[in-house]
Amino acid sequence: MSHQHKKRFGQHFLQDQSVLDAMSAAIAAQPNDVMLEIGPGEGALTERLIDQVSKFTVVEIDNDLIPTLNKRYGSRAHFHILHQDALTVDYGQFHHCLRVVGNLPYNISTPLIFKLLESRHAITDMHFMLQKEVVERLASEPDGEHYGRLSVMAQYYCAIEDLFHIGPEAFDPPPKVDSAVVRLTPYRQLPFIAKDEVTFARTVKQCFSMRRKTLRNNLKGLLTSEQIEACEINPGVRAEVLSVAEFVRLSDAVSNMETR
Ligand code: SAM
Repeated sequence: MSHQHKKRFGQHFLQDQSVLDAMSAAIAAQPNDVMLEIGPGEGALTERLIDQVSKFTVVEIDNDLIPTLNKRYGSRAHFHILHQDALTVDYGQFHHCLRVVGNLPYNISTPLIFKLLESRHAITDMHFMLQKEVVERLASEPDGEHYGRLSVMAQYYCAIEDLFHIGPEAFDPPPKVDSAVVRLTPYRQLPFIAKDEVTFARTVKQCFSMRRKTLRNNLKGLLTSEQIEACEINPGVRAEVLSVAEFVRLSDAVSNMETR
């Protein structure tokens, strides 16, 4: 019996072979790779990658897909299934150079990326099919239409490449939105280093707390206008025009205030 697609799990299965070709070419699996796929579904992408790597783990939440995956790949010694919610996995447990891939369920993609960023030291790179708008947010430059907290946090930790865009017809059933494939490569050496990463995340969140307000307003209680100016930043601008380096300067000013 064919699988009944479940909306609550964001099940839009890739069926366009040329998109699968392009995605596997972008991933460029190598024999020593330790790969983890999030949301394998019935294995459309798994099939392209599994025999090219030394270890392949999938994380799938849907009970009904586990027998299919076991039947197709269970005989391979290097294949493992984590029947689990991807938001509850400890990604630091796997390997120090994990390659993460997936056509992600769009409803969990943003929290999942934030979670993966916490385990960035264990990850070599990530290739994801996402809602196009999320890829635009990840890759956006300051002052771009999509620039926001996700852009700043992801770009602080990773180099980001918006690789290619795909229409709904590549999937079964077709989603209502366009999709895109993105590559996130965690920096081994961060280009800009905040004194304290927790303060950095908190400062960025606070700067964007009310999108239409200026930094002066959003940072009330954390920094005065004079302290913002001392970072060589105009307190009358909105967060959406600041570069990652400027967020680091603001965050360091907050750290300095709090350790006084
Ligand atoms: N990779 C397959 C493909 O391209 O055809 C399926 C992609 S489909 C967009 C998303 C997959 O993620 C589904 O298999 C779904 O069951 C699974 N999924 C949804 N939520 C999940 C979660 N929280 N944790 C793990 N897997 C999840």
